Amino acid sequence: MLHFSLHKKPWLCAQVFPQSNLGLSPFLALPLNPISVLKLRASLLKNPIHLPKVLVDELPTRVGFLGLGIMGSPMAQNLIKAGCDVTVWNRTKSKCDPLISLGAKYKPSPEEVAASCDVTFAMLADPESAVDVACGKQGAASGMSPGKGYVDVSTVDGPTSKLISARIKSTGALFLEAPVSGSKKPAEDGKLIFLTAGDKSLYEIAAPYLDLMGKSRFYLGDVGNGAAMKLVVNMIMGSMMASFSEGLLLSEKVGLDPSVLVEVISEGAISAPMYSMKGPSMVKSLYPTAFPLKHQQKDLRLALGLAESVSQATPVAAAANELYKVAKSQGLSDDDFSAVIEALKPNLKQTS
Ligand code: NAP
Repeated sequence: MLHFSLHKKPWLCAQVFPQSNLGLSPFLALPLNPISVLKLRASLLKNPIHLPKVLVDELPTRVGFLGLGIMGSPMAQNLIKAGCDVTVWNRTKSKCDPLISLGAKYKPSPEEVAASCDVTFAMLADPESAVDVACGKQGAASGMSPGKGYVDVSTVDGPTSKLISARIKSTGALFLEAPVSGSKKPAEDGKLIFLTAGDKSLYEIAAPYLDLMGKSRFYLGDVGNGAAMKLVVNMIMGSMMASFSEGLLLSEKVGLDPSVLVEVISEGAISAPMYSMKGPSMVKSLYPTAFPLKHQQKDLRLALGLAESVSQATPVAAAANELYKVAKSQGLSDDDFSAVIEALKPNLKQTS
């Protein structure tokens, strides 16, 4: 059973002011346990009109957040906006500043964040950075101890996740992998999907925080299963985007309007929010970054490794991976992954 070193009283008093049209008394003081408070805050964030306004004196757990990129920043912001006691760190310190101005605390290393928090989340680029931040010099593991928890929400492969888990657990702390499905906008809206695996007791403690940042969560058992689920999802997504790119260009080449193709697809059985969201800007050769192309290629690479480990054929994903590699070589790593379409366009320098 996870024991949290609550630095303030474990039972909280929330002052609830029901909306007048609910027909309830104008003032209510409810004793709430820490989990209830966070769940209530999660509901409030998502249904601000239908739920009463709540003022909470104190929050139970100190939360750390490491990695404030496209995903980490809005996720940490949602925790801060809900009133959580959040301490942040990012390799590039300037990315902490907007969060500090929203009320976050700052520590200069992952170790110090982990040492000062009960639960620490990490949202890092890839396996190398996830290992470095967790296990490296002044890494989070050096600040972990019994009673603490580490939740890695980065997308990595199973072996990497197991390595981080072993290092964290060697300190007596608990570990949960919790990669997310969803992109920049769902991260901003608190609508991510968490694919978790690892210590069930940490899953239960972390659940209210996951609910502040996400719309659903799955507990999948042993460490590695969350990573595998995430890689399978992104393998499918990468192939879908590559195929969509070919269709857009083919339609144009045979004299059709690719914008109409996007509309036709949206009406039928192969419609997907991704096509409707990305299609219109792809037609205009615009790729505002929500999911960096380099991360999509990393996920395909890791998914192919997963498939290789069980001798599963994945020829479509392998072909898609090659296309993303070409796009990377064209300097498109930091564009949105929809820029993979550029890898299929004729290279004017070569053909002229
Ligand atoms: P991002 O914007 O590129 O942010 C990456 C983060 O990792 C930044 O905080 C970066 O710090 C940090 N980082 C990179 N290398 C590091 C190193 N060697 N040491 C310490 N920190 C390092 O990426 P993102 O889009 O937020 O994605 C983060 C993770 O979520 C990735 O695993 C990605 O595959 C996954 N994911 C992304 C999306 C999406 O739509 N964007 C959706 C689902 C999952 P600096 O600021 O100093 O560079």
